[in-house]
Order: sequence, then structure tokens, then C-alpha cells
Amino acid sequence: GSREQRELLGGKGANLAEMSLIEVPVPPGFTITTEACREYFGAGDRFPAGLEDEMESYLRRLEEIRGQRFGDCENPLLVSVRSGAQVSMPGMMDSILNLGLNSDTVEGLARKSGNRRFAFDCYRRFLQMFGDVVLGMAREEFESILSDRKKALGGSQDSCLGEEDLVSVAEEFRILIEQITRKDFPRDPMKQLRQSVEAVFQSWKNQRAVEYRRIHGIPDDWGTAVTIQAMVFGNRGARSGTGVAFTRSPATGEKSLYGEFLSDAQGEDIVAGSRTPQSLRQSPVSKGRSLQEMMPDVYGCLEKIAARLESHFEDMLDLEFTIEDGTLFLLQARRGKRTGPAALRIAHAMMKEGIVSKMTAIQRVEPDHLLQVLSPVFPEAERERAIAAGLLLARGLNAGPGASSGRIAFSAEEATRMHGRGEKVILVRTETSPEDILGMKVAEGILTARGGMTSHAAVVARGMGKSCIVGCEGIRIDPIAGRMTAGGRSIDRGEETSLDGTTGEVFLGRLTTIPSEIYRALRNEPVGKDQEGIFRAYRDLMDWADATRRLGIRANADTPEDARNARLLGAEGIGLTRTEHMFFAAERIPAVREMILASSPLERQRALSKLLPMQREDFYGILEEMDGLPVTIRLLDPPLHEFLPDEPALQEALAHEMGVEPEVVRAKVNLLREVNPMLGHRGCRLGLSHPEIYKMQVQAIFEAACKRKQDGGDPRPEVMIPLVGLVREIAILRRLVIQEAERVMKQFSIRVPFLVGTMMEVPRACLEAASIAEEADFFSFGTNDLTQMTYGFSRDDVAPILKSYLEMEILSVDPFQSLDVSGVGRLVEMATLAGRGRRGDLKIGICGEHGGDAKSIEWFHSIGLDYVSCSPYRLPIARLAAARAVIAEGNARENSRR
Ligand code: PEP
Ligand code: MG
Repeated sequence: GSREQRELLGGKGANLAEMSLIEVPVPPGFTITTEACREYFGAGDRFPAGLEDEMESYLRRLEEIRGQRFGDCENPLLVSVRSGAQVSMPGMMDSILNLGLNSDTVEGLARKSGNRRFAFDCYRRFLQMFGDVVLGMAREEFESILSDRKKALGGSQDSCLGEEDLVSVAEEFRILIEQITRKDFPRDPMKQLRQSVEAVFQSWKNQRAVEYRRIHGIPDDWGTAVTIQAMVFGNRGARSGTGVAFTRSPATGEKSLYGEFLSDAQGEDIVAGSRTPQSLRQSPVSKGRSLQEMMPDVYGCLEKIAARLESHFEDMLDLEFTIEDGTLFLLQARRGKRTGPAALRIAHAMMKEGIVSKMTAIQRVEPDHLLQVLSPVFPEAERERAIAAGLLLARGLNAGPGASSGRIAFSAEEATRMHGRGEKVILVRTETSPEDILGMKVAEGILTARGGMTSHAAVVARGMGKSCIVGCEGIRIDPIAGRMTAGGRSIDRGEETSLDGTTGEVFLGRLTTIPSEIYRALRNEPVGKDQEGIFRAYRDLMDWADATRRLGIRANADTPEDARNARLLGAEGIGLTRTEHMFFAAERIPAVREMILASSPLERQRALSKLLPMQREDFYGILEEMDGLPVTIRLLDPPLHEFLPDEPALQEALAHEMGVEPEVVRAKVNLLREVNPMLGHRGCRLGLSHPEIYKMQVQAIFEAACKRKQDGGDPRPEVMIPLVGLVREIAILRRLVIQEAERVMKQFSIRVPFLVGTMMEVPRACLEAASIAEEADFFSFGTNDLTQMTYGFSRDDVAPILKSYLEMEILSVDPFQSLDVSGVGRLVEMATLAGRGRRGDLKIGICGEHGGDAKSIEWFHSIGLDYVSCSPYRLPIARLAAARAVIAEGNARENSRR
């Protein structure tokens, strides 16, 4: 096999095959394909014909290579049986080690190895794993026998168990299995193997694997491959051990071997996080002796192999290895999961080192990675204040960067419950297990008392982009009492805590956050030395993406400050300014209410003239920030009742403030009340019934633009009419805008180039796009409303329906998050074609939430839109996604040519 065969051999099987091709030392073995697994499920959980024969014949080959025999009492071959899907699902499925042992072969192993303690350590491990994975027994039953024994000997580590202890523990395990299953333990290794392969197939369907697939969008029908390999033993004494290594730091991207190692141990010891491992490299902070110190020759060999594998696989890798009596074996190589900062730095460094191209570097950075590096952090002063106030509870390993705060939950269920009540949660566990996955998903951050950088919690949290601290030995958790102790304090469930996943510090209470270092670097504010590399990587990657993409990128921004941020983050204009957001400011809302409550045109005009200067000032500020770039300003959109209070007491207070009878306010609220406000008196409908509001807004826009031009600026306003469904609507309002714009410009004796266009957010507008194009200089798809109206789902009330539709698999994604290409997308595509057909120079963009969704952006690129517009903090994602769309297109073309 080779690495090209992941679909068939699973990631683990394919990469093992590849490593053996390039002569990296891996234990010999063979892989049962995912196809066999699918056939097994398809036949009602029965092995496909011929599978057992094939297994036997490959076992014979394995015996020949190793010079051992499966089930032999003199020199028995032992194997591992390991799961491995097409994409890595760390810890979600099962594996069995030391298979082939029974009360006879264990004696053979003891004799052959000359180490009876080792042989029985293997045997008790096998019994435990077989009992757990194949026979469905509780792991704790075995654990409690083991820990009772250790307690009796006055120790806590496995090393306190002597040869005789392990012999009797193994015997106790066997008796326990036979008592619970009421069957003899299967002594025949072939039978053990058959049952184990079947159990690994079945582990594809265990609950946590199903959950993991749902969260990560992995299809349920792929199935897992099963790799059967000759055992190499890390539990063979002091010159043996097992470990995991990343070829670069998965937390920071630093270029050096990084990982953990346990001497005299087998693989599961490290993943379980029950013993704190040693580090690979010597460093001032490493606890205990490092592998480098203990076995410098083996460490050197590992370093060489890691570098070789990295350049062969052209990526940062996550390796599993075992050392048997001083000889190194690789057990797995896969793409290493990494944090946002690490992803950026690794992609950038590998491009600079000539390992990958710019295109590959762009593809290596995921939207979530960017979100992480742009997410807020605790300011240094806040950290120092918290430390001085004695709020620093403990320090652990900084497994997932970023700041998070929330209320403490001690179990996944607790976390889910609290999250359901709308609370932010920090999940605190002694160590996490795959069952905790749902709790981790809803948590802001994860804190564990045990485990290393590669423990389950660390790996999964990094995959989810959560801030995470592991191995925080200073905390003691009592989940039953719902309490933990740390830093000499006792902290209850529900209390607030803050995690700094970048430094590994745990604080009591909620700390305030500030923008990320990248934001600050963009604003030329000083940043930490360690952050400069990340910033350089960010800047170069964004430059490469900008040079690659064709799609324009604009921002949705409502204030000058938003606009400034947007420009820093690479916006090439503003695609949507929602003017109503300016109306809601505390000092403005009275004037807005006055306008709504006005009883005569004169009164209304008076109120509008109070709003005019405020709006003019806003528009001036935005145009100034966006000098030389287009700024799309949308005229008022929401129904007017949104600006009036709903509650009787507040209505009375308002009446008092306005100097009118409470009855007047009540009557107005009643008059404006609508059954379906989202389908009601809003958007251009409002502009048509209250042209004076739109006129005031247009006057403010053009007065601001003219003033800006007088001041030497280069304003480029684009006026946008919302919720158009009929040609006449836009025709009338376009005339209004042009008349008012011309009037103002004439007054200023200044000309400002401008456009008048429409939002496309009513399905009817898409159907009549050709005629509407005659009245519009541009279309901007409002895919929020367009999705709402195409589905007939209310944007504001749909959450419970969506939840059950997703559960029932009626929908596979939330169409408000990722564009429904086959429905709403068809309308967008159709309208784009029709509009451009009528008017070649029609500018077309999208400003709904989908403008910041990577998958949707790829699609908008494919239908040839001019730009997408999204919230400022998603701009880097949009820039990258637009570049990735170009690369994907190129790859697809390449493939079809082949
Ligand atoms: C839209 O409908 O997609 C849009 C951008 O407008 P709003 O969300 O303000 O309705
Ligand atoms: Mg809308």
C-alpha cells in the first residue's frame, strides 16, 4: 500500500504502508480495508466471505518475517489490532494490544524474553483491553483490582507491582472475565483475533465516534480499517518505552521536536494521561529526565526520522513511537493537529524552507485557525492585577491558546445543561475521556488536572480551537461535591474562572479581554517578541491570499470605528452599513421616537432635522476611514415599532419624556404592531410610505460626501435600497435618491461619483432580476432575508425547528450559516445571470452572514460575484477562503484534464 490509499486503508494503515515503503522502521503488519468493514455492516454484521482466510494467510507471512508463531508456546507472535478511519478520529474508536496471549503462550513469552514480569504485564494488559473492548466490560472493574493491589503494596505506580503481583493480577482478571461473561476466556488466538477485528469494526458505531463524526461532518458510511501489526514492546524495562512526538510544536509552531515519553510503558499509558510523562528534549522546564538524556542515541535517531518524514509528507506530523530495548519503531504518522498560531507559523515556515508552495501554505490555514489568532486575550495589566490580587489559582500546560472565561462545570452533562441556559462554561475535569466530547464542544475553555500536551483533552481542544490548560497539578477536583481546591481556595461549581490558554494560567473570576496581538500589531502597537513571528506569518499569508483571489472582500460596518478595523483587516470597501444601528444609540433614540410619534408632517420634519446632523457626522466618519474605497450605505430597513418600547411602564415613561399623553404612545405602538413584522412594513416599503425619512438619510450621505470631498478626501458612496421585490419600488426610490443627491451636490457645487443599487433579498426580486437591473447600478444579495423568505423560516424563531431538523437529518447544515446552494443559491445564480445579461456593468456582491462563511465564499466565487461582504473580524477568513476557492478551482481543472 501507500499513502494514496487512505480511503481504503484508513489514515493509519496508509501512512504505515508509506513509511514502510520509504524504509522507516515500522513493525510488520497488514491492514483490513474500510471496504471490508462496509461489507461487514452491509451483510448484517457478518464477515465478508474470504476475509478470515486472507487474515490467516497474512498472519502466516507475518510469522515468517518475525520467525515466530501465532499461539506458539515457545516463541509466540503477538499482534496489535488497531482502528483507523480515513480521517483521524483521535481516541474515538478502539484498539487491542498484546493479542495472542493465554495461560500457555504467556509462559512462552516469559521464557523467550527471560522476563516473566514483562510477560505477565503484557498478559494483564491484554485481558483488560480484551475485556473492555471486545466483551464490553467496565474498565473500572479492572482498574479497581489493580489499584487495590498497588494500595496494598503502598504504591500508586505500576512499577511497584512485582512479577508475582502481576501473575496474580492477571489471574484475577481472567476469573473476573469468566465470572461476568459466564464463558471461558477464549484461549485460541485466532478466535481472539476474529473477535477483536469485529469489535474494532463495531467501535465505528460507538456513541462517542458517532458524536465525533456529527461534530466534524464525517460521513457515517465510511467505516474503519483495521491494522494488524506485530507487537513491539515498550514495557520491556528501562531501555524501552513509548511516546508521541510532533515534528514541530503544535502549540506555537516552533521548529523543534516536541512531545512526551514514558519509559517502560505501552501506548495506552500515554493517551490515558494517568502517569505524567517525561519530555523528549532536555529543557530548563522539563520535569524529570528527558528521552534525550536517557537515550541520546535513540533520541538522535528519532530526530532524524522525524525530519525525513516531515519533508516526505510535506507537513507537520504527529508521530507515535515505541522503543523496544533500545530499538526505535514508528507506529503511526499523521498530520498533526495544531493551534491557530502554530498553523500560521508552520505554513509560513514550510513555504520559506521550500517544503511547500505558497498555494499549499494557504490551504494549510483553516478559517478556525485565523479566528484563534484574532480572538481576544487577557491584557498584561489585567493579568498582573489578577496575580497581585491573589486570583491566580494554578498553572498548567498551555495546550490550547486564547483567553476564556465562564462558570465552572465538573462534568460534560453539567456543561451541556449550563450552556443550554445560555451560560458560558469552563469544563474542569481530572482528565477528559472521549465521552466528554459534547461537554468540550459547548465549553469556552477546558481545564484538566492531569495529562500532557498530547492527552485527549489537549488534542481534542486544539482540534476545536478552544483555549485549554492540561496537567494543572495544583487543582484537586471533587466532582461529587461539585468543588475544587486550588491556590489554597475552595471553588464551587458555577463560580467564574478564567483560563489563559497561551500562558497556562488559571484565574478566579472573570478577567476582561483585549484584542489579539495581531490586531495590535496591525495598529502598530508594540507586541511581545514571541508574537512577531506569528504576525509576520499572518501578514505574508494574507498577502499571498490577496494575490491569489479574484473575489473582492468588503466589510459590514456601521461605525467609523468598525470601518477602521475593517480596513486594518484588509477590507476593500464597505458592503453594508446598516443605518438603523446608528438610530439605537442612547442619545439618538429620543429623536427617532419623536419622528415616529409625530402627529403632523411639520413635527416629523422637526425630528428628522435633529437626526440629520448625527447621521451626517456618522457618514462623514465612515467615508473618511474608507477614503478612496466604495461605501455601501443602506437606507432604513427595520419596522418602526422596533424603536418603541413594548412594556406599558416604559411606554408611560416615554410619554412623560415626550410630553404627550400615555394614550398617544399606546395608540401608536398598537398602530405599528404587526403579526409578521419581518414580512411587514419595513425596507423600501417604509421608504415609500415615509419618503421624508429616506430623503433625510440621502441628504446626510451627500452632505457628508461633499464635505469630505471639500476636505480633500475621495468619498465613494453607494446608496442601497433594501427589501425590493417589485421594479416600481426601486424605480420610484432611485429617482428620489438621485433627485436629493443632485440637489445637495448642486448646493455644494461639488460632484461626487455615486451608485444607487438594491438589495436582493426577496425571492421575487431574483425572479425579476433582469428588469430590476435596469433600475440598479448594483445588486447586493441579502442572503439572510433571502434564506428566510425562500424557506419560509422566520429568522428570529427558527432555532428550535432547525435543531430538530438537524437531528432528524432533514437538513445537514444550518442554511443561515452556510448557504443553501441548491435552493437559495439557485436564486442568487439565476439573478446574477439575468442581471448581467441585461446590464453588463452591473456590480454584484453579497452582504448576508454567508459572506463570512468559507464554504459559501467558495461558491460565490464559482458563480463569479464581484465581492463578498462580512463582519470585520471574519475578513481574514474571507480573504483566505477566496484564495482557496481559486486554488480548488485550479485543482479541479487539473483533475478533469487527467
Ligand atoms: C440580509 O438580509 O442578508 C441582510 C444583510 O440584511 P439584514 O440582515 O440587515 O436584514
Ligand atoms: Mg435583510
